[in-house]
Amino acid sequence: MAEGGTARNHAVAHVLEEIADLLELQDEQPFRVRAYRAAAEQVRGLAVDIAELDAAGQLDAIPGVGKALAAKIHEYLTTGQLGYLERLRAQVPAEAVALLRVPGIGPTRARQLIKRGITSLAALRAAAERGELRGIPGFGAALEQQVLAALATPEERPARLLLGAVLPLAEALAAELAQHRAVRAVSPVGSLRRWRATVGDVTLLVATAEPDAVIAALPNLPGVERVRAEDAWQVLEHAAGVPVRVVLVEPDAWGTALLFWTGARAHVEQLAARAVARGWRLTPAGLVDERGRRRAGADEAAVYAALGLDWVPPELREGAGEVEAAAAHALPTLVTVADIRGELHAHTDWSDGADTLEQMVEAARARGDAYLVITDHSPTPAVAGGLSAERLREQHRAIAALNAKLAPFRVLHGAEVSILPDGRLDYPDDVLAMLDVVIVSVHNQFRQSREAMTERICRALAHPMVDVLGHATGRLLGRRDGYAVDLEAVIATAAAHGVAIEVNGQPDRLDIEDVWVRRAIAQGVLVACTTDAHSRRNFDYRRYAVGQARRGWAEARHVLNARDLDGLLAWRAARRAAHQQG
Ligand SMILES: [Zn+2]
Ligand SMILES: [Zn+2]
Repeated sequence: MAEGGTARNHAVAHVLEEIADLLELQDEQPFRVRAYRAAAEQVRGLAVDIAELDAAGQLDAIPGVGKALAAKIHEYLTTGQLGYLERLRAQVPAEAVALLRVPGIGPTRARQLIKRGITSLAALRAAAERGELRGIPGFGAALEQQVLAALATPEERPARLLLGAVLPLAEALAAELAQHRAVRAVSPVGSLRRWRATVGDVTLLVATAEPDAVIAALPNLPGVERVRAEDAWQVLEHAAGVPVRVVLVEPDAWGTALLFWTGARAHVEQLAARAVARGWRLTPAGLVDERGRRRAGADEAAVYAALGLDWVPPELREGAGEVEAAAAHALPTLVTVADIRGELHAHTDWSDGADTLEQMVEAARARGDAYLVITDHSPTPAVAGGLSAERLREQHRAIAALNAKLAPFRVLHGAEVSILPDGRLDYPDDVLAMLDVVIVSVHNQFRQSREAMTERICRALAHPMVDVLGHATGRLLGRRDGYAVDLEAVIATAAAHGVAIEVNGQPDRLDIEDVWVRRAIAQGVLVACTTDAHSRRNFDYRRYAVGQARRGWAEARHVLNARDLDGLLAWRAARRAAHQQG
């Protein structure tokens, strides 16, 4: 599994994060909070079951896990509880932790709220509605409005989960379930199977002829705290804090159930209409003809075939032309993770990355990539620790030295250059000229008018040394909408100048989104499936970038980093030559 680990690892990581949250609310030393968060990240990314490390007495071999933390993890793994966590929980009102999750409210403001007796989201909302927040030090009218918007009731703003936050958990649970002798097949369904950027729930579909045996096994899955029956399914309450629905179906109906549970509704309705046109009926239990005979049911591809259609990859099932394409045998051959030859966007500890240049390069090589483009930040804004021109030259020499020993693997020297508010770039041309790949991104002044922002980005794309536009809308899912920008105009400008547009795989970005990928490739713009890695572990995000590109109907030929090193360099050289002539 790309992100490794088991459901148990996720449970332990969640416990460590809860401790960090609780410590943060108690004004603990920031380094202790960071230590717990860092350990949580390490545990979540473990390739092995943490229980095995514990059994071997090797918990403290996990980076960031010392003796004291190892003892706590051991206690949790062996007893299912942790005394230290229970004590912390007793000291902080249970609901107060949720305050930390509200956009704009960090630990400092959360402590201010708790001091005033505002210890739940409901109390926070009531205080905001009465206009009382603005009077609290560190708050203000604007933040009060922001809080109100964020706390709109679920009907007003449905809670969505990040794909990258829940897919690894769903996969880990599916892998555990697949081990059970009575389980014939298991798959995540719904938006999760369609790789939507955010999902409303986590549902696993299980094919079994012995539902009782499977239900009896559910409470023993790692990290599962409780199981309750609800309507026609079981709900697992998991230590990772995400409820997981498990739906059991007869193996005979696996294919049709998979189709119905995967959706989207518009897609399924179009298939049902094709069945009706033949005098048949498509139901979750099977595809039935006019004489009541089952034409298909056990196998999903056979259901499509019976309806005269090629099998449609789940990422395309949105009712956006894919059924017509399947009927005409004209579906795209979607890009896959295996098509990607190298990473185009990665940070090191030269700027705000967590790992060294050497560690990033080694990790990329170990994954089987052919190249890695190092793209640390330019100096603006200062918070990202960007490189001065002088430091960038120093990095250039460091990369040249690495390349001398690493051939045929190639480290390319790039940069993620900020687009300044007026559209100029954050390095002068003579500095840009030293770089192999130039990504440009907006990192500040998000509140410009739509016209100003569009002009700003388009001006940058017209610069002859720019290769790729990074996270084009700046959205942070669940935290901030993208800035106002005319993406139609941006894509047209990228097409005119031969600039590629990034599909950023960070789970809270996934920017640009699928519909714009489809727009971009229709205009002849290449997309770049990047991870924007800020640590070696982030290279695992590649599959999310590819997932969004697939949702945008992208084939390998539409993806810049599906080219091999020579192909990438030739693309770059051809664009430079064209500019020099023009
Ligand atoms: Zn960026
Ligand atoms: Zn970046």
